[in-house]
Amino acid sequence: MTDYLSTGALPDEYAQLAKTVRDFTRSVVAPVAAEHDANHTFPYEVIAGMAELGLFGLPFPEQYGGQGGDYFALCLALEELAKADQSVAITLEAGVSLGAMPVYRFGNEEQKQEWLPQLTSGKALAAFGLTEPGAGSDAGGTRTTALEDGADWVINGSKQFITNSGTDITKLVTVTAVTGVKDGGKKEISTILVPTSTPGFTAEPAYDKVGWHASDTHPLSFDDVRVPQENLLGERGRGYANFLRILDEGRIAIAALSVGAAQGCVDESVRYAKEREAFGRPIGANQAIAFKIARMEARAHTARTAYYDAAALMLSGKPFKKQASIAKLAASEAAMDNARDATQIFGGYGFMNEYAVARHYRDSKILEIGEGTTEVQLMLIAREAGL
Ligand SMILES: Cc1cc2nc3c(=O)[nH]c(=O)nc-3n(C[C@H](O)[C@H](O)[C@H](O)COP(=O)(O)OP(=O)(O)OC[C@H]3O[C@@H](n4cnc5c(N)ncnc54)[C@H](O)[C@@H]3O)c2cc1C
Repeated sequence: MTDYLSTGALPDEYAQLAKTVRDFTRSVVAPVAAEHDANHTFPYEVIAGMAELGLFGLPFPEQYGGQGGDYFALCLALEELAKADQSVAITLEAGVSLGAMPVYRFGNEEQKQEWLPQLTSGKALAAFGLTEPGAGSDAGGTRTTALEDGADWVINGSKQFITNSGTDITKLVTVTAVTGVKDGGKKEISTILVPTSTPGFTAEPAYDKVGWHASDTHPLSFDDVRVPQENLLGERGRGYANFLRILDEGRIAIAALSVGAAQGCVDESVRYAKEREAFGRPIGANQAIAFKIARMEARAHTARTAYYDAAALMLSGKPFKKQASIAKLAASEAAMDNARDATQIFGGYGFMNEYAVARHYRDSKILEIGEGTTEVQLMLIAREAGL
């Protein structure tokens, strides 16, 4: 990837990937999105199709079963999927960026060999267990504990709002837990791999969410969950710092997903504005509607350039924290604003759940909350600006 990419001039391999995922989205994802949304069902058959396309292995080397691509490739796939179905896109985002990536970034060779081939093939999913009832934006407020007992860790506590944590193919949850006290009295937080088959681990009943109905989200409880000390992921006491790194890059992925949602709203609105007639002409012939759509297109495009920029910095090894937060902020707001405008353009139909824009309206709100709320992004950007 070059240092800066114009959105209209993707190099061939990226353009080809985007087209493949776009075709898959149109033929496989879109036709069943409303049904899974209405029934709150996890789309196993769609996920299996994505696995077959190699999407779960996109940014990982071939030696671990990956496609040998990069993080930008993952972002392009997320953007395409989210145009039609944010639930399917977040399943990929959480599976790759939050599930497999911590193992790839911080695992030792044995852990990588054990877990990555299953995860990169899409046959198994891993979840990222950071948030707790008392630790969301303030993730350092972790209360879950992991105490050493002989050759094991014994984990007790709970996590909440954890994506992909209770599907039939979920095999692993990486959790942050307090493993001791540092000099100066601060909590020592480490990351531990917990296979979901471990006794004492429970994925509680799924949440009844406003949106993302086909995405899997559960509270988790840990009741004397015993795993070997070898399941420590990365350095002891670096769990919080390592998860923050994962969240920094995850924000670029969420920005890409948000751009897909924002663009999906534009595409639906253009189609509908040409088709729907009122007062004897298409509603798009009114400047009020055309300008609304023009503004929506501008928001999607601006947010896209922001995530392309953050991804380019990340891939070239330069600092990207601020740009990732800017991209996440701009793109999540673009998605929410475009969903609101698209719903307005669809009139009464926009308020009917079966319509894609209505689904985007319900789905997009979480984009301003998950992987760092809007306020957290503003805090990070302000801090980078020296405030
Ligand atoms: C569908 C869904 C999926 C999720 N998936 C995962 C997952 O896979 N793994 C995981 O670990 N977590 C996950 N989360 C959790 C998500 O990341 C948190 O909900 C989010 O970080 C916010 O934390 P909170 O809910 O505790 O809100 P809080 O931190 O309690 O924030 C409440 C409000 O206060 C604001 N606020 C807090 N502190 C400040 C401050 N200092 N200044 C100004 N405003 C402030 C926030 O911005 C927010 O508006 C998921 C959540 C949802 C809803």
